[in-house]
Amino acid sequence: MTTVPDILTVDVEEWFHGHNYLGQVPPAWWAAQQSRVEGNTDRVLELLDRQRVRATFFVLGWTAVRHPDLVRRIAAAGHEIGCHSFAHPVVSELSEQEFLADLDQAIAALAACGVRPRGYRAPSFTMTPPVHRYLELLRSRGFAYDCSLFPIRHPRYGQPGSPRYPFILEPPAAAEAPAASAAATTGDFVVVPMPTWRLGGVNLPFSGGGYMRLLPRWAYRAVRAAARRQGQPCVIYLHPWELDCYRPATRQNALLRWRSQAGQGTMPAKLADLLQRGAFRTLGAYVADLLADGNLPRRSLPLAAPGSDRAAANTRRQSGAD
Ligand SMILES: [Zn+2]
Repeated sequence: MTTVPDILTVDVEEWFHGHNYLGQVPPAWWAAQQSRVEGNTDRVLELLDRQRVRATFFVLGWTAVRHPDLVRRIAAAGHEIGCHSFAHPVVSELSEQEFLADLDQAIAALAACGVRPRGYRAPSFTMTPPVHRYLELLRSRGFAYDCSLFPIRHPRYGQPGSPRYPFILEPPAAAEAPAASAAATTGDFVVVPMPTWRLGGVNLPFSGGGYMRLLPRWAYRAVRAAARRQGQPCVIYLHPWELDCYRPATRQNALLRWRSQAGQGTMPAKLADLLQRGAFRTLGAYVADLLADGNLPRRSLPLAAPGSDRAAANTRRQSGAD
């Protein structure tokens, strides 16, 4: 039986790709910004190498095009490479055609680095109930798993009614499948939701991003242990810019600045502490173990209870912590 592992996932993107910067640094300005991703990702690689931990890096296509040697370096160190879209869109705001166009561009960018990704993570976890059917499009492009569902309350990506535990996504009846998924492959497609700690009937996030930056080390350890007792793997998510105290000259308001930058100075030590304590696997290896066990439940769309995402849909365009 698969034990509950720790899994480090890194969304390889620049500081300005975070949706907290959307208003201040629009995509048309990205190419003119200071690139920090190589140095910051190398810091993560060094930490991992020191602890002999293998991780999963969800690489943004935009970054892969500009830093192909970084992608090759990550792969050469034995880590898994997944896909984090091409242009970091809010997936829930894309049509099927737009989603596929971005996905295909990302696949091509990674292929140019010699990588065929098997796992996908949507930018800011925006694979929300209105677009859960896009999971079928991932399957149609040969992906084996997704790690984008965050079953918590959150104004942009919250989906508290979605499953908390990994499952196999049942293919839809042909009549209900997205038109573009007609060429779907036949392998099982696994969905690994982001881990939560369920307390008092509420799913609480803890494992990465702003949650990890803001939780004191002792509190993080305690919540991680409590979530593990609920069978939740500790899927840490991290952005290279979260280890960087670079302060860009943008007009972010104080709240957004706090969400983007608070706790950055604590991250290298927190991460090193976690890497020493955990039993780490790549996400792809964990998914393979789950499938080999043969105990995963199967679920069909819709995954969330009707209306459970209403609040999120109403406020999706507002900003929130990542
Ligand atoms: Zn991202």
